[in-house]
Amino acid sequence: MRKPFIAANWKMNTDSQYALELASGLEKAIADIQGVDVAVCPPFVYLQSVAKSLSVDGNVAVGAQDVYFEGNGAFTGEISCEMLKDVCCSYVITGHSERRHVIGESDELINKKTKAALEAGLKPILCIGELLEEREADKTSEVCEMLNRHICLIFKREADKTSEVCERQLREGLKGISEQELANVTIAYEPVWAIGTGKTATSDQAQEVHEFVRGVIAELYSKEAAENIIIQYGGSAKPKNTKELMSCKDVDGLLVGGAGLKVDSFYEMVKIT
Ligand code: 13P
Repeated sequence: MRKPFIAANWKMNTDSQYALELASGLEKAIADIQGVDVAVCPPFVYLQSVAKSLSVDGNVAVGAQDVYFEGNGAFTGEISCEMLKDVCCSYVITGHSERRHVIGESDELINKKTKAALEAGLKPILCIGELLEEREADKTSEVCEMLNRHICLIFKREADKTSEVCERQLREGLKGISEQELANVTIAYEPVWAIGTGKTATSDQAQEVHEFVRGVIAELYSKEAAENIIIQYGGSAKPKNTKELMSCKDVDGLLVGGAGLKVDSFYEMVKIT
């Protein structure tokens, strides 16, 4: 049985005071909820104060939104795995779409970060997901061309881009990671077109990709590894759609952005999960 796992990615939001209010408000609100793992991922600068404010044996874990793969040295602006552990982080998000597409991180860099996190004893949440144009390329496209005064209709079915992108990000992201290490990895499927847009993937769309992801894990590792891995959905997840998303066979949890910035909405989601 896979234990549901819901994490809030605060992204570049909150301030020092609100970060503490949010974390402790949430801890209190969910104190009696069992059977679900919960984590919050504040900005780097608030990690330590948030972690300190939570009780050691409480049920809210702390994660970072990114990490660098080197141990220490001349890497201006970067944060190492040991630094994250030093401030009581247990999770770290790697390969978030905003880092892939806004900052420009490659699959290779994401793989290095994911591996470094595992080696240091952190639990990575490896994000994957397709862009809108990649999802759109899956639709049958009709191309009309004028050729020698004849109208030719060419129907073409592009390769299944969504699967192709997700499979590549998974294979590259998990390169060199053993099946034993995989037990500490969570995968988050976050279709980029659904992030912060209010457009959630339908439960059918989410289930289809989650099932596909499990299939890729079975191929790369084993059936058992595929059965055990936690796959979160992310992208405009909110209290209203939590029940439907969580009812999908292969959706094991959520990676939440906007709705994780308020105690009430995140608490609702944890309760439903
Ligand atoms: P939203 O829930 O705001 O769409 O963000 C999702 C996300 O990117 C979580 O990592």
